[in-house]
Amino acid sequence: MQINGIHHVTAIAGPARRNLDFYGRVLGLRLVKKTVNFDDPTTYHLYFGDAEGSPGTILTFFPWEHVAAGRLGIGETQETAFRIPAAALGYWTQRFVTEGVAHDAPEQRFGETVLAFRDPDGMRLALVAAPGSENEPGWDNGEVPVEFAVRGFHSVTLLLAEAAPTAAVLSQVFGFAEVGQENGVVRMQATGAVHGGIVDLRAASGFLPARLGGGSVHHIAFRAADDDEQARMVKTLAEKFGLRATGQRDRNYFRSVYFREPGGVLFEIATDAPGFAVDEAADRLGRDLKLPPQYEKRRGEIEAALPALA
Ligand code: ZN
Repeated sequence: MQINGIHHVTAIAGPARRNLDFYGRVLGLRLVKKTVNFDDPTTYHLYFGDAEGSPGTILTFFPWEHVAAGRLGIGETQETAFRIPAAALGYWTQRFVTEGVAHDAPEQRFGETVLAFRDPDGMRLALVAAPGSENEPGWDNGEVPVEFAVRGFHSVTLLLAEAAPTAAVLSQVFGFAEVGQENGVVRMQATGAVHGGIVDLRAASGFLPARLGGGSVHHIAFRAADDDEQARMVKTLAEKFGLRATGQRDRNYFRSVYFREPGGVLFEIATDAPGFAVDEAADRLGRDLKLPPQYEKRRGEIEAALPALA
C-alpha cells in the first residue's frame, strides 16, 4: 500500500547556532542528524524531528552564517505547521512571550485552533491543536514538558498563482484528495497519513515571485515507501503531467528525486528507508557530526571550516 504524506521540509536559515537553539531548545524538537550539505560540505545540514526521526516529522535546515533574507512570493511554501495537543496551546503562547518569539493571536482554521509564529529568520510556522496528538509520544528535550511537546508536521501551505494544477499532482501522484475550502485555501489531505498529511493551497495574486533566502522553505519532500514506489511516482509524473524528475540521489538517510511542480514549488520524493539510525545508534542521534563516505577522508578540514554550534 502506498504510504502518503510529507516526508520532510527543508529550509534555509541564518547562523547554525541560532537555528539549533531555536528548534532544539525553544521548540523542543530532537536534533536527529548533524551532517553537512552534501553539495557544499563547509556548511551544516541540520535535521530536526521526533525521537526516532520518523517521516512526517523532519524539518531540515541549511544554515548559512551570512545569508540574505528571503522574500515570500508565488511558487513557495508560505507556512509550515506542527501538531500539538490542544492542552498545550496556553503553554506555547506563554513560552513564545517568555522567549521573545514573534507570534500572532490564536485563530481558527478549518475548525482547528492555530498559533502562528516566526523563527529568528522570519520563517513562517504554526502550531495546530490536533485532536489525538496528545496520545502520541513526544520528545523530551529536558526543557519543554513532554505532554506539551510538538508531535510532527500538521501541514504546509503553498502560495500559488492557481491551486488546480498543483492539486492534480498531489491527488494523482501522492494520494491526496481535496477535503475542504476556506478563505481562498484549498485543503488537500493524504489518506492514512497522521503526520504531514495536509497540504493547503493558497491561490493569490499580487505577489511577486519568491526570492529564496534566510527563512525560505527550499523544498517539500513527499514519502515513498521504497525505490519501486518512487519509480512509479516518477513514471506517473512523466506520463500524466509531462514532468521530468531528476535522477535518484543518495542522501544517506533516504534516496531522493526532485522536480518542480506546476505551481513552481520544488518537490522531492524521498524513500522512508533507510532512516536516520543507519549511521549512528538511535539513542545517540544528532550527537556527532556524521559525514557521507565521500567526505570522511576530509573530516579534519571540514570540521575546522564549520561554525561552532555551542
Ligand atoms: Zn530534501
